[in-house]
Amino acid sequence: MTELVRNYIDGQWVEAKSGATFDSINPATEEVVAPIVKSGVEDLDLAVQAAKRAYAKWRLVPAPRRGEILYRVGQLLLEHKEDLARLMTQEMGKVITEARGDVQEAIDMAFFMGGEGRRLLGYTAPVEMPNKFGMALRDSIGVVALITPWNFPIAIPSWKSLPALIAGNTIVFKPASDTPKLGAEFVRIFAEAGIPEGVFNIVLGPGGPIGNAIADHPDVRVISFTGSTEVGYDLYARAARKGKKVSLELGGKNAIIVMDDANLELAVEAILWSAFGTTGQRCTATSRLIVQKGIRAKLTEALVARTKALKLGYGLDPSVQVGPVVSARAREGIHEYVQIGKGEGARMLCGGEMTGDESNQGKGYFYKPTLFDNVTPNMRIAQEEIFGPVLSIIETEDLDSAIQINNSVAYGLSSSLFTENVNAAFRAIRDLTTGIVYINHGTTGAEIQFPFGGTRGTGNGMREAGQTALDSFTEWKSVYVDYSGRLQRAQIDTDEVLKD
Ligand code: NAD
Repeated sequence: MTELVRNYIDGQWVEAKSGATFDSINPATEEVVAPIVKSGVEDLDLAVQAAKRAYAKWRLVPAPRRGEILYRVGQLLLEHKEDLARLMTQEMGKVITEARGDVQEAIDMAFFMGGEGRRLLGYTAPVEMPNKFGMALRDSIGVVALITPWNFPIAIPSWKSLPALIAGNTIVFKPASDTPKLGAEFVRIFAEAGIPEGVFNIVLGPGGPIGNAIADHPDVRVISFTGSTEVGYDLYARAARKGKKVSLELGGKNAIIVMDDANLELAVEAILWSAFGTTGQRCTATSRLIVQKGIRAKLTEALVARTKALKLGYGLDPSVQVGPVVSARAREGIHEYVQIGKGEGARMLCGGEMTGDESNQGKGYFYKPTLFDNVTPNMRIAQEEIFGPVLSIIETEDLDSAIQINNSVAYGLSSSLFTENVNAAFRAIRDLTTGIVYINHGTTGAEIQFPFGGTRGTGNGMREAGQTALDSFTEWKSVYVDYSGRLQRAQIDTDEVLKD
C-alpha cells in the first residue's frame, strides 16, 4: 500500500484530527492510488488559522521576492512534469499527452505570475488640487480558499494559487476528492520552492462539509471555486451572507458551428479533439455540433467513421486516444443522459455503451464515444451539461440561426466557428455571447495570458488567467497625498485654485 497522503498545514504534513481516511481510485484499473486523510471542519479551521497568521508577514514580502519563489515553482514543475503527468493519468484517467499539457499550463502560469511580481500595476491620475498626488494600488486581501474540480487537477489550482500568492494572500486549498494526491503533490512543489510556513495549506476530503465550513468561516475573505453550476451557486449564496468575495468558474455547453464553406478535414480533427479529448470532461468540451445543411451529410459520415475508430484504454499507453471517465458514478450520469437523448427522439449513430479495458479483465469506467444526430436545440441533451463523451449534431440553415442556437443555452463558456469567409468570422466574433470564441479551432485550448471564463450560468462575471486573474485576489486602494500644508476640500475649494 502506498503512503498515506496528508494535509499540509502550517508547514507540516499532518493527519486529519478524526484519523479517518478514504481511498483515491484509478478509474482505468479500479486500483487504489493512495489512502487519503479525510478532513473535517476542525482541520479546515486549523488551516485557516495558520494562513491567517502567515498573512501578517507574507503580505509584506516585496512582490518581486514573492515572484522569485513562483519562478522556482515553475522550474520545479518543469523538473517533475513527467512524474506529475503520470500520476494524473493514474488518478483521474486523462491520456498521458493531455496530462503533460495540464502540467505545462501550470508551468506557463508560474512564469507569467512570477513576472507579475514586478508589475502588479496600479495607476496614477491627475488630481484637482495643487500640491496633491493620487494613485490607485492593488492590495492583498487575506486568507483565500481555493476549491477545485478533478478534470484539470494541476492547471486549475495553478490558475488560482499563483495569482493569489503573487498578490500577497495566503491560501487554504481544497482539491476535488477524486484527485487529492495530485493536490498534495502540487503543494509539495511550493514547499520545496521555499514558500513560508502557513502561506499555502491544503485540506483533503469531501466537498460538502469542508465547503460549507469555508463559506461560513469568518477569516476566509475570498473563495475561488471551479466546479459544477449547482454546487457553485449554493456556495455563492452561502458565502454572500458573510460578505465574501467569490469567483466562480462553472459548467459549459459549448458548440462548434461548421459552415458549408469550412475546411472539412480540419473541422473533423478539431471536433474529435474538442468533443472526446479528456473523454469529454472539460468545461470547454464541445458537446454540440451546429452544422449547416449543405455539409452535414459529409461531415457526419466522416465523424462516425473516426469516432468508431478511437482507441479507448489506459492513458499511460501512448497509443490510447480516450481514457476512462473519472468514476463509476460519473459514468452512470452520462449513460442516463444517453437514455434521455434516445427518449427525446435523437438518433444515436455510435457509442452509447459502458465498457471496460479488454486488456485488463474489463476493468475501468470507460464509455464509448457517442454521436447523436437529429438533435433539436431544445432537447435536454442539447441544453444540459453532460460532461462526458457525447456529441449532439444539430442542423441549421445559416449563420444567423447557428449563432442564435449557440447563444440559447444557460451557459456561456466557449464557442467556435469553422468558415473560410472572413466576414462571417467577424460577425460571429461580434455576436457569439460566450467568454471565449475560436475561429477555425475547436472549443478547447485556452492560453494562460488571456482571460478565461464564461457568461451566464458559467460563472459570476469573474475571469481567471491573464492579468484579470488578479481581480479575484486583490482589492483596489486609492491613495491621496496632500503636500500643500493646508486644508484643500475636493469639489468645494476648486475656485481657490485659479486665484492662487
Ligand atoms: P463539483 O461541483 O462536484 O466539485 C467541485 C469542487 O467542489 C470539488 O472540490 C468538490 O469537492 C467541491 N464541493 C462539493 N460540494 C461542495 C459544497 N457543498 N461546497 C463547496 N464545495 C463543494 O464539480 P466536479 O465534478 O469536480 O467538476 C466538474 C464540473 O466543473 C463541471 O460542471 C465542469 O464544467 C466544471 N468546470 C468548470 C471549469 C471552468 O473554468 N468554467 C473548469 C473545469 C471544470
